[in-house]
This record gives sequence, C-alpha cells and structure tokens, in this order.
Amino acid sequence: MGEFELIRRYFAAAPCAQAAEGVALGIGDDCALLQLPPGQQLALSTDTLVDGVHFPYSCDPFLLGQRALAVSVSDLAAMGAEPLAFTLALTLPTAEPAWLEGFARGLSQMAGQCRIALVGGDTTRGPLSLTLTVFGRLPSGQALTRSGARAGDLLCVGGSLGDGAGALPLVLGAQQGQGESADYLLQRYWAPQPQLALGQWLRGRATAALDISDGLLADCGHIAAASGVELQIERDCVPLSPALRDLAGERALDCALAGGDDYRLAFTLPGELLPALRAQWPEAVVIGRVVAGQGVQLLDGAGRRLQPPRVGYQHFAQQT
Ligand code: ADP
Ligand code: MG
Repeated sequence: MGEFELIRRYFAAAPCAQAAEGVALGIGDDCALLQLPPGQQLALSTDTLVDGVHFPYSCDPFLLGQRALAVSVSDLAAMGAEPLAFTLALTLPTAEPAWLEGFARGLSQMAGQCRIALVGGDTTRGPLSLTLTVFGRLPSGQALTRSGARAGDLLCVGGSLGDGAGALPLVLGAQQGQGESADYLLQRYWAPQPQLALGQWLRGRATAALDISDGLLADCGHIAAASGVELQIERDCVPLSPALRDLAGERALDCALAGGDDYRLAFTLPGELLPALRAQWPEAVVIGRVVAGQGVQLLDGAGRRLQPPRVGYQHFAQQT
C-alpha cells in the first residue's frame, strides 16, 4: 500500500473527512479551504503526541485516535471556539491496515462527537507520532484568553479533576483495576470530553480561561502570570470523583492538583454570574478566588497557606 492509497483508504474515505459546514474544500488538493462567516475569527492550535511520551507504546489505535483529537479540540473549548476542521500529520513506522483502520475509527468517533471535519494532513514514515492542528471559529474579539482575570473574580473548574492522572497507573499496567471505578477513570483518560458547550457559554462572561492539561496548579499559574494576579485555591473545594477516591486513595488530591490530562476548563468569573453558572452548569465548581498578588496559593480549610505538591510535567525541565 503506497502513501496515496493509504491516505485515500483510511483518511479521505473516513466519516470524519466527509463534507461539512464551513469546509469549502477538504482532502485532496494542495490546501484545504475554510469559510468563515463575516465577523468571525479563526482560532487554531496544534499539538504533537509522541509514542512513549504522550501515550504508551503499542496502545490501542482506536483509543489513541479518540484521545489525540479530544486533547486537541479541548484547546478550542478553552478559547470558547466552535470546532470547524482539523489536519493530521501522521508519522508511522509501518502501514499496518489493522492499526490504521482502528486509528481512523477512533478519530472519526471523536470527530463526530465534537462536530469537526478532517480536511488535510501529511503522511510520513518514521517513529510513531501525531500532530493535529485544530481550527475553530468564534465571534471576533470574544475569545477567552488567559490574561483577563481580575481581583475579586471567582476561580472555577468545569468538573472533577485528577481522573486522567488517576488512570495512568491503570493505563501503564502498573495497577490492576477492574469494575466501575477503573472503567470510569480509563474512559476519562482515553476519551476526555472537550468542554465545548461550557467554553462557548463562557464567552462574554468569564474573564480568563484555559483547559487543564498539565495539572491544576501549573495551569492556574499560567492564568496568574498572564493576568498579573494571584489565584487562591481552597484545597477542600477541589472536586474529586468517587472513582478517583476509590482507586487513588490518599493520592487523589495530588492527582487533581499536580497530575495532568484532565481536559476540564478552569476559568475566572465575576461573582455576580455565579447563579447563572450554577443554573446552567451544575457540574462546575468554585474552587477559589482571584486576589491582588502573583502566583498560585493553596489554602486549607482554615485559610492557611499550604505547601503545594510538585507541579505539572514540562518537557526538557530535567535536562542538564
Ligand atoms: P502535497 O504533496 O501537496 O503536500 P500530500 O501528498 O502530502 O500533498 O497529500 C495529499 C492530500 O492528502 C492533501 O490534501 C493532504 O492534505 C492530504 N493528506 C495527507 N496525509 C493526510 C492524513 N494523514 N490525513 C488527512 N489528510 C491527509
Ligand atoms: Mg504534503
């Protein structure tokens, strides 16, 4: 099977590559063409996943396809954008039909859920890695950036944290787990649901937002730095799922604070919008507040400052 046959069979023919709104021209030419309605901006983001770094060697290709796209689309959610299209640059050691079929199915499954179309890419031979670029649209000037948090705002998250990090020992085979809790955590790891509807609802409401990929403390640090404020997090308000408590035990809070792979939104919101948030998004949780200062501070139930655990993962951080 040559490169063009591979592209045609597994990608151009995939359900996720069929005609879609906003896509004037898809796979097959030198460029894809996207159509933006007047008054809208294009939001785009790119992410690379490397075998053995971002996902375990020889993981299930269907799950990998699902997860790779979900992780990328989560960035669109974090900006308040509506998904439009994505490209896939795929480097593969060998063209194995069963792998490609599973991968394309996983990709199409998540693409259907997120209503996003595959419009192009590149296919090369080499160690397995994936680069996905996602494109979304949003009304001009309404993107949710990291830089608008103001002292007095509430700090909120879109739901339970730490599930992805809690799943990691199961994913890597270091912990055996069966039953409901294990199933739930594995589902959260392999098929995180980008919080697209929440992100779009937050446009014109939240003052800052991002998606939590590197751990709550590390990512809140980005909002604090970009906005020039301090974020205070109340330890006892951090939402933990029953499944995480069940399987991670004492490590549950650390998973939520410092583990990555949550793909929930964190956002700052003026206090007067709390009733509207509660009414519309019951799963969202207030975990703290924005104050004058800098950095991220973890507080115990009595308001005392706590020493935080190690912060999120950074490539090259340990290199000498
Ligand atoms: P070019 O040489 O003009 O860059 P390619 O031969 O790389 O074109 O790709 C041919 C067409 O197939 C292009 O439209 C490209 O976007 C698309 N394509 C290549 N690889 C992939 C892939 N993995 N997924 C989706 N589309 C792809
Ligand atoms: Mg090319």
